[in-house]
Amino acid sequence: MRAVLLPRPGQIEVTEVDDPTPRDGEVIVEVARVGICGTDLHIVKGEFPPTPFPIIPGHEFAGTIASVGAGVDAGLVGQRVAVDPSLFCGKCAQCRRGRGNLCADWGAIGDTVDGAFAQYVAVPAANCYRMPDSMTFAQGAFVEPVSCAVHGVRRLGVEAGERMLVMGAGPMGLIVAQLLTAGGAVVSVVDRVAAKAAAALELGAVEVGTSVEELSTRRFDAAVDVTGAPAAMAAALGALDRGGRLQVFGVAAAEARLEVSPFEIYNDEITIIGTMAVLHSFDAALDLVARGVVNVDALLSHTYPLEEFATALDAVANGAALKAQIALES
Ligand SMILES: [Zn+2]
Ligand SMILES: [Zn+2]
Repeated sequence: MRAVLLPRPGQIEVTEVDDPTPRDGEVIVEVARVGICGTDLHIVKGEFPPTPFPIIPGHEFAGTIASVGAGVDAGLVGQRVAVDPSLFCGKCAQCRRGRGNLCADWGAIGDTVDGAFAQYVAVPAANCYRMPDSMTFAQGAFVEPVSCAVHGVRRLGVEAGERMLVMGAGPMGLIVAQLLTAGGAVVSVVDRVAAKAAAALELGAVEVGTSVEELSTRRFDAAVDVTGAPAAMAAALGALDRGGRLQVFGVAAAEARLEVSPFEIYNDEITIIGTMAVLHSFDAALDLVARGVVNVDALLSHTYPLEEFATALDAVANGAALKAQIALES
């Protein structure tokens, strides 16, 4: 089959590789659509610590079950599915507490084992979620990022009427902003690029700006940083009302540091909340996308064939694309 292979950090090949064979409990998915996300940029450069090389990346995907391994119902062949890429051991202390996303042996299809920038990918049958007939593969490939946002919003909590700030208007920021709006929050969005911030207005934000200072809302009950940039997090922290909460959603460099005032955290009862990937949120995300509560069609700006993976990656890296997908469906 054709696949994007990363032999080592910084090197991309679109090449012929062996078809995957399903192990017990697995199915082979014929890939239709795969999203390119910020994590892929880090993986390609070798900046995502859990990723081994060589690897086929690709963790946001949908397709059709082509064959099944031992112990899997053969009736699943032909089913159109979105796939939760999360892999966890089920045995460690965090897994036993129901927090598989914090598993001591956490992995993900496309991040730690071969993924979906390929014609076929082997995945556990249990990770497959049937898509309604009305859902397109392009929408199905958005379920994974939406499920990350659903987990984040559940961790943050939202009450009707809360003033909320989203830092970053990339695809993830625009998904988070939509979910917060649906939850009844009054949402402001900041992005350094004015055109990206403006897209948030179409998706329910009440105001946008290229900096916090440009906004008319002066104090926020909560802020979500989706950029991973410490400067943006500091600006968000500075815009919180007393009693406010900051969610760190964006992926910062492992060595990055954020300066905080312990006195302000104490005196103003500030809460800082992390959120990591997907946890019991995939089926909810699928429903939110299927019913249009989260509009993902508006986020998809570019589609490329597999052979143009490197071009697609560049378009995401340099900001030309909002969301880019690789299309393999015939
Ligand atoms: Zn992703
Ligand atoms: Zn575990």
